[in-house]
Amino acid sequence: MPIRKLCIGFTLILIAVLLALPYLTDRLSSVRIEEEKEPVVRLYVHGTGEIVRLPLEDYVTGVVAAEMPAEFPAEALKAQAVAARTYILKRLKAGGVANSGHPGADVCDDHRHGQAWISPEEMKKRWGTFNYYRYYYKIRQAVDDTRGLVITYEGQLIDPIYHASCGGKGTENAGEVWKVDVPYLQGVPCPYCADPQPVRMAAIPLEQANRALKTNLAVVPVSGGGRKGSPAPAMQVLEYTGAGRPKTVQLGEKTYAATVVRDLLDLRSADFTLKVNGGQVEVTTRGYGHAVGMCQYGAKGFAQHGYDFKQILKHYYTGVEITRLGEK
Ligand SMILES: [Zn+2]
Ligand SMILES: [Zn+2]
Repeated sequence: MPIRKLCIGFTLILIAVLLALPYLTDRLSSVRIEEEKEPVVRLYVHGTGEIVRLPLEDYVTGVVAAEMPAEFPAEALKAQAVAARTYILKRLKAGGVANSGHPGADVCDDHRHGQAWISPEEMKKRWGTFNYYRYYYKIRQAVDDTRGLVITYEGQLIDPIYHASCGGKGTENAGEVWKVDVPYLQGVPCPYCADPQPVRMAAIPLEQANRALKTNLAVVPVSGGGRKGSPAPAMQVLEYTGAGRPKTVQLGEKTYAATVVRDLLDLRSADFTLKVNGGQVEVTTRGYGHAVGMCQYGAKGFAQHGYDFKQILKHYYTGVEITRLGEK
């Protein structure tokens, strides 16, 4: 009797294994095929000093989470996902390791060296556990819905430059900001720019600003200055960009590119005015970032008005195509 029971037991297990076999092998082989297709990104993480290997789409998910607020509409997140994917693939194609600045890695997680990336653990920390599941799923969905899609111009991957907010003024020609003209990075209007606070005020001690700029802002270049009792303008705009931002300015007795002033004073954008008021420089800025390429708040606005990610990307990147990886 025990032997017969054992036999029945074995038979049942055998049948179960045989039934499951096709499913298991199928799963294994499909996983293998997926892995072969999906490039691997070697990412240097500044916080730990480690290099992690991530499948492309996992990496893209971490970039979207780091670069765009998760509460933005799905179509804006999808546009960001396609931009992030295009960026890394262009970099991998160009031989990532050679020019990442981090030996053995294709890219890193610092936005100043490329694009930001955060781990799922970091997402949990930033959003809290409850929002983590909501937002991670939402972002992952945007990534999956655009899986393998990239932006090309004349068949080549583009540099998908983007910035947080143009402040509603529209974007700039790359040539006016960086002196290098790029056919797909042309200034375009930003009709639905959804930046809730496009204009910001800040104050910098006059001494500190003078030191950074190596000038004397208290020497007012404009005759007369402001109204009586109001702060005197400390700058004169000598030249404007196509979208109407300062391009060349005079501060004290010196002339600067507005982008240089932005860097030296660490301003939110190059669309600024400076006024001296006693020992302070009052700074007003509009927008956030360099204003070239996709405006993220503009993408949000387009999405809220019913546009899809392809329309958004084609608006901000002139003359581009959205294509599937490997397709011409
Ligand atoms: Zn880095
Ligand atoms: Zn905008």
